[in-house]
Amino acid sequence: MVIDGVIRKAAKRLTASQTPLLDARAILSFVTGTESHLLFRELTPDEERRFEELIDRRSAGEPVAYITGEKEFMGYRFRLNRDCLIPRPDTETVVENIIDTNRLPQPKILDLCCGSGCIGLSLALFIKGARVSLCDISLGALKMADENSKLHGLADRTEIFRLDVLREPLPVGFDIIVSNPPYIPSRVTDKLQVTKTEPRLALDGGDDGLDFYRVITTKAYESLVQGGVLACEIGWDQAEAVSALFGGAGFGNILVKKDYGGNDRLVRGEKV
Ligand code: GLN
Repeated sequence: MVIDGVIRKAAKRLTASQTPLLDARAILSFVTGTESHLLFRELTPDEERRFEELIDRRSAGEPVAYITGEKEFMGYRFRLNRDCLIPRPDTETVVENIIDTNRLPQPKILDLCCGSGCIGLSLALFIKGARVSLCDISLGALKMADENSKLHGLADRTEIFRLDVLREPLPVGFDIIVSNPPYIPSRVTDKLQVTKTEPRLALDGGDDGLDFYRVITTKAYESLVQGGVLACEIGWDQAEAVSALFGGAGFGNILVKKDYGGNDRLVRGEKV
């Protein structure tokens, strides 16, 4: 097939990518507006030019999700820009844990440091009666969270606002607070490849990577109702330190959960 040749040729240029064929297919689907495996025609000259241009960007290291402006998470599409961390499959562990353990028909949920909104909005999609507040320090990210809320028809069950969690108090009365805060130690952030393409503001968790957990555990405890749950995504080596912070803030029934890669990914606790 003609298109197969186009994809293979483009993939050969994506030498630094671990998934060159997948990337080329995703970019081609984006350019043509048709799933690449359903494309039974040649590209128009315009499409060809655009495709080459975007393959060049990918080849220079730009993530596919920023090129196409979207990423799938929990089976739904989320729009994103460069102010948002790209949603990771590992983070689905956090969402699934809340969906599996929630017993309330109409929980009040807060997503702290929401980025594109993928965690909080997925929870709203899977828990039909949930009311979800989403906040972030980045106005650029909030714009995407707002767009995603509308895209998925959630505007009447969500509220989105700017909040600097390190400096401002949280609103009160939540049943569930979820957060995937920045958690990478500053000196590590400097060296990581992701920092070159994704926002440092969403990655850098201070000297030891724990700045946000110190603040979030304390503030969330104040904000949650009795019996409320705090669930935070963590880095693979942070379970012990973050669990200790949960305990210090007063949380009980503290649990650590692994992601599908077998790494510790989530700490949760209850206001008992
Ligand atoms: N999981 C991200 C990474 O390792 C980090 C996310 C975060 O700091 N919240 O690239």
